[in-house]
Amino acid sequence: MANFDYDYFVIGGGSGGVRSARIAAQHGARVGLAESSHLGGTCVNLGCVPKKLFAYGADFGPAFEDAKGFGWSADNVRFDWTTLRDSKTKEIERLNGIYKSLLDNAGVELINGFATFVDDHTLDIDGKKVTADKILIATGGYPRKPTFPGAEHCIVSDDAFYLDELPKRVLIQGGGYVSVEFAHIFHGLGVHVDLIYRDKLFLRGFDTDIRQFLADEMNKQGCTTHFQCDIEKVEKDGDHFKVTCTEGKIIETDLVFSAIGREVNTKNLNLEAAGVKAKDNGVIPVDHAYRTNVPDIYAIGDISSKYALTPVAIAEGHALADNLFGGMDRLVNYENVATAVFSQPPIGTVGLTEEDARQNGYDIQIFKTSFRPMKHTLSGRDEKTLMKMVVDKKSDRVLGLHMCGTDAPEIIQMAAVALQAGATKQTFDDTMAVHPTAAEEFVTMR
Ligand code: NDP
Repeated sequence: MANFDYDYFVIGGGSGGVRSARIAAQHGARVGLAESSHLGGTCVNLGCVPKKLFAYGADFGPAFEDAKGFGWSADNVRFDWTTLRDSKTKEIERLNGIYKSLLDNAGVELINGFATFVDDHTLDIDGKKVTADKILIATGGYPRKPTFPGAEHCIVSDDAFYLDELPKRVLIQGGGYVSVEFAHIFHGLGVHVDLIYRDKLFLRGFDTDIRQFLADEMNKQGCTTHFQCDIEKVEKDGDHFKVTCTEGKIIETDLVFSAIGREVNTKNLNLEAAGVKAKDNGVIPVDHAYRTNVPDIYAIGDISSKYALTPVAIAEGHALADNLFGGMDRLVNYENVATAVFSQPPIGTVGLTEEDARQNGYDIQIFKTSFRPMKHTLSGRDEKTLMKMVVDKKSDRVLGLHMCGTDAPEIIQMAAVALQAGATKQTFDDTMAVHPTAAEEFVTMR
């Protein structure tokens, strides 16, 4: 066997790469990892974690309002953007340090630098050559930039985490996770939000009732959604921007934020030198064991997975290391991947949507409830919750659960366990309610 510097070399120190490197090292492999930026990848640095911290910050705005109905005075409430932004950055730096300790403690050698392929067992990391028996590509992605005239005036999500100041108005382009989550953040912080999406209703792929419900709730709060509308050009007009949209609609705003999806980070890896094939969009096809077309080169996470979700990348990286170095033969279970959107109200969803279930030929029964959360009977807030269950009539199995309302992400995580265990509607009916909660609606639907 050839004499390599490492048994396993991981390119990319995001959630998936770090997990895979650590587990491989714990199985006794000699492991190296290259990262050219901060450890933790998108999730820790420019995604899930800072987004959730901002969302917590945003929720104080309406909470001060709501408190009045419970007897609290919350006058002269002020918000300081730099405090939130910089506290968030400090927390991210702490997490970067934790990721470094995790690698150190596992015995993974970290090389700070950008890795490119020299051949199928050799990498060049900023001029230093390393060889490895097996190589994992886990390089994730970055926000796609728009291309319309005036695109240079727009920010993307990476920039939104480091704004010098908070605008009075923002226009967000796109109808995906990032767009509705930042609509929540900006609106909660007192910024007027226009959200512009090219098709009929945002959040394609989610249950239609949930999508419509969230749009209605956002519009009630004062966000303005513009569907079947897209940006044609952006012009700077003094200290603000004039955005020309399809059909001549003009929107004036102080910040244009484009959230139109992500690109994968594979273009500069010199994949050709190793013979690794990628699609035109950079995505690297892999088999069920995360093998690329080249033996000994693997890929996981956003660059190859059908789910661009942190827990999926972690599960893939972990399983791969177990299989390569732990003598195991296990597959990641992609059934019932639950997901949350930290919109306001947030969404939690697991399993099939009503549309998916019908398309897959199920004869289904739908249970649905919409109600005003108890808290808002005193707060006076005009906000509702929607909960929906999709049941297979033949087997009584619950195929999907969908919720838009306070705590939906927390509730859906536990509900996903029930679905994974094959729960039927009867199982839900036989489960005692926890009262008074919103979650109890899932076991009292008739
Ligand atoms: P998404 O893929 O979720 O959404 C992109 C949006 O932009 C879609 O509405 C899409 O429209 C629209 N779009 C795409 N191209 C264009 C274009 N050229 N012009 C106008 N609109 C366009 O991307 P995000 O960046 O929001 O999120 C990326 C991924 O990151 C998510 O899919 C998710 O997997 C992950 N993520 C997860 C989060 C979570 O778990 N809470 C939070 C944030 C991100 P259309 O639907 O019509 O194609």
